[in-house]
Amino acid sequence: MALTIDQFPCRSDNFGVLIHDTETNQTASIDAPEFQPIIDRLADRGWSLDTILVTHHHADHVEANLTLKTAYDCTIVGPAGGARQIPGIDRTVDDGDTFNFGTFEVRVITTPGHTLDHIGYYLPGAGIAFVADTLFALGCGRVFEGTPAMMWESLQKLMTLPDDTTIYCGHEYTQANARFAVTIEPDNLQLVARAEDIDALRAAGKPTLPTTIALEKATNPFLRVDQPGIRRRLRLEDAPAAEVFAEIRKRKDNF
Ligand code: ZN
Ligand code: FE
Repeated sequence: MALTIDQFPCRSDNFGVLIHDTETNQTASIDAPEFQPIIDRLADRGWSLDTILVTHHHADHVEANLTLKTAYDCTIVGPAGGARQIPGIDRTVDDGDTFNFGTFEVRVITTPGHTLDHIGYYLPGAGIAFVADTLFALGCGRVFEGTPAMMWESLQKLMTLPDDTTIYCGHEYTQANARFAVTIEPDNLQLVARAEDIDALRAAGKPTLPTTIALEKATNPFLRVDQPGIRRRLRLEDAPAAEVFAEIRKRKDNF
């Protein structure tokens, strides 16, 4: 079995991602940020669209749901918690649910915080996860509907995925995230080196994603709230992890 993954820019800073099972010839779109780039990419590849896997109800993730459904008669899967806000949803899923995409198992991980309905999709057989606006390269999503403690719990769930899991995110925010990250952990040499790599990639017009769990654990300040250096800098040496996380999130909001 083999999975082809195609990531491409949509809107101003969203990613579209198509996954294609070469054995069954099935294709899924992770979210539906924008109609035209998605149908262009499908046409380039010669793929039809069977499924949309929706991560959360925000407009920049569901805008093309109905137009794609009309064009391809595809099935729309999305979080039970957001069903009323997700156009054209056919099937709801919840934490721990599993289903098949082609020959691959898909596991649903609820990750509330950015929105209450936010979920991620993990394909253990392919070693990949689609986390949308929960975890970003060197960052995490803004906490719009949940609480920082809820978001921290969701990030911890993602941190239990195998270190070599490839992570696809909803947005190309990495360069701005890197500028903030180095203010939180300036003496993390791997982070500093990564920030330089990111600048080079962006200067060349290249995406900085996907990433991996291992790379985020080593460089993403939002996942490193237990690091003594970060705690010292924030003067939160003995605070619970969720409180350190909340402080970093607050600083990023005001950065
Ligand atoms: Zn969002
Ligand atoms: Fe988004």
